[in-house]
Amino acid sequence: MKNLRDFTYNELQEDLSKNGISQKFRSEQVYRWLHQHHVSQYDQMCNIPHSVKNNLKENYHLGNFSTEEVKISEDGTLKFLFGLNDREVVETVWIPAKKRRTLCISSQVGCAMGCRFCSSGAMGLVRNLSAGEIVNQLSEVLKHPDVDKITHIVFMGIGEPLQNLRQVMRAVDTITHEKAFGISASRITISTVGLVPAIKRLASYPYNVKLAVSLHSSFQDKRESIMPMAEHFSLTELMKACDFYTAKTGKTITFEYIMLKGINDTQDNIVKLAALLRKRRCKVNLIPFNETPDSPYEPSSSSTLQRFQKGLESKGVSVTLRTPRGRDIVAACGQLRHISQQNKAV
Ligand code: SF4
Repeated sequence: MKNLRDFTYNELQEDLSKNGISQKFRSEQVYRWLHQHHVSQYDQMCNIPHSVKNNLKENYHLGNFSTEEVKISEDGTLKFLFGLNDREVVETVWIPAKKRRTLCISSQVGCAMGCRFCSSGAMGLVRNLSAGEIVNQLSEVLKHPDVDKITHIVFMGIGEPLQNLRQVMRAVDTITHEKAFGISASRITISTVGLVPAIKRLASYPYNVKLAVSLHSSFQDKRESIMPMAEHFSLTELMKACDFYTAKTGKTITFEYIMLKGINDTQDNIVKLAALLRKRRCKVNLIPFNETPDSPYEPSSSSTLQRFQKGLESKGVSVTLRTPRGRDIVAACGQLRHISQQNKAV
């Protein structure tokens, strides 16, 4: 049986008509029930005739999740652990700020990239999420009583989105569609470890989403030691792909830089990073490291963070410093799923 949430707007019309539901307005009604009213049962679709509902029940499932756990931080951040049909779990984090309500969503179950600072990397890839499983994270979060809205989406949860590009972009189609979530593509950020061919493919899609690239070091050998996937692409190739993305989409790229004590936070890193980025249309986002029990790294001190930021700015690089959110609820990528898997194993 197919997951009804997997389809884009156009695909849904096509597939429903193959099953005898050929009126366009009917397909549009179903689409709205799924992505604007977030229904979890066919009987909630009150303007759909019984015969059509029975047809839908016979041919499609709704891709419902079970909510395994919700953690609420003292800063208002909510972290969800959702159970999927095959008993796998994914994490989604809702982060409220003054004006923004950002949802950090997952694109895979587990991750193959193996970044050494990340709990998900330690557990390996289980499978890709389907487009429906990606968009249903929004619907499920919107049902929580503390959640008023979602204004921004970041693909920075579990998984490497560019390794699951087709499903991610089908999900982006639904997230941006005016008859679904209606969130502008300029408010969607896709984050990657730097898969060069996929960055070029992403540039060919019509959505022009924002791109964030995990850099973490401007020294090739150091970068490879932090992110093993980096050995497949040189920094020169990566920068060329980023320049291509900027030229094609007009978007400023964000380079993510997690601050690791004694690893990538020294003066020579400031000099090398500034030389790499100074002339590019980009900004650097410095991320305080959220320490995990089995991590080989320690976080840089706050004085080092400030020195690093000022050092880059003095060399003409635009820098932001990420405010850590939800630390009391282990809100960093993959931590909740990691703990859940460990508990299962006990
Ligand atoms: S940081 Fe992201 S890409 Fe790296 S292992 Fe974790 S989930 Fe995968």
